[in-house]
This record gives sequence, C-alpha cells and structure tokens, in this order.
Amino acid sequence: MENLKEALQKMNYAELAQLKKELENGAFNMRRLVGTRLRELENDHERYCTHCSSHLDPYSVNTYTLIFGPSEFKKKVSFCGPDCLEYFLKRVRVIKESSKH
Ligand SMILES: [Zn+2]
Repeated sequence: MENLKEALQKMNYAELAQLKKELENGAFNMRRLVGTRLRELENDHERYCTHCSSHLDPYSVNTYTLIFGPSEFKKKVSFCGPDCLEYFLKRVRVIKESSKH
C-alpha cells in the first residue's frame, strides 16, 4: 500500500479526478490493469532460488517456478534446478504430514 500512496502523490489533480470517477463507475479499467500486472508477475520467475538463494537465470531451462495456494492469496517460489525444487516439495510434505497428527 506504501507504493500506492507514492503513486497517488505523483498524480496531478486531473489524473486523480479521473481515477475517482473510474472508481465510482466500477473501476473496470483499474481491475483490468491490476489483472494484467498480476499475470505478468505470475509469468516471471523470482530473482533468487527459494532454497539456496542463488541468482536465477530467467532464460535457463533449469529454472522452475511454482505457484500455489488459493487464487486470492497465491504464493510463488522459484528454484535453480530440480534438486532445490525437490527439497522444497519434501519439506512441504513433511509439514503436511506433521500437521495431520
Ligand atoms: Zn537453488
């Protein structure tokens, strides 16, 4: 929300008035813009491996990204290779198994 405040501070009176009108009319354009940006972010890999913290090459065939969770609270994790991805999945399984008891 801090970034949103900053963006609003940068807008002039006419832009803010237009935004207010857009919000009052159901914010169709705003929802479309937010949806498009979310899809862009979902399609990109994270910059660092979730397991070993190494820098990820977005063009490598060995970079994996996993998106999980309910649609409103999706989480995204990326890995530098199958070993780190596998380690993550094993940890998730252990946490799931231990929460059953
Ligand atoms: Zn890794």
